[in-house]
Amino acid sequence: MAKDCLFCQIVAGEVPSDIVYQDDKVVAFKDINPVAPVHILIIPRKHISDLTEIGPEDTNLIGHIHSVAIKIAKEKGLADRGFRLVNNCKKDGGQVIYHLHFHLLGGRQLTALG
Ligand code: AMP
Ligand code: ZN
Repeated sequence: MAKDCLFCQIVAGEVPSDIVYQDDKVVAFKDINPVAPVHILIIPRKHISDLTEIGPEDTNLIGHIHSVAIKIAKEKGLADRGFRLVNNCKKDGGQVIYHLHFHLLGGRQLTALG
């Protein structure tokens, strides 16, 4: 657990969150400031600061995060119409919280990236 990391504190249960899925590797919870009808953050329990810090030992973990995203998307009824799975990496990518997370967005027509 990284000191002063909000998402590590959510993983530890020290900060409340609206958890929709969890297992031994990941936690998924509702974004506190949703920008779409479905806006869920999927994070590894392990602290990884951003996408560039993923190592070869994390390959299975990243695959697992995608599997969890698809499972949640299906449960939320997004699989037919589609959805977006987004990672913001560092400053230019718009990253604010430096604990790796993927945004699962859906339930409306999303606009172009950029
Ligand atoms: P990013 O810009 O990719 O780092 O996104 C960080 C996301 O975390 C934003 O969409 C925030 O709304 C969300 N967020 C910040 N604090 C919390 C919190 N306590 N619980 C849930 N989501 C949060
Ligand atoms: Zn963390």
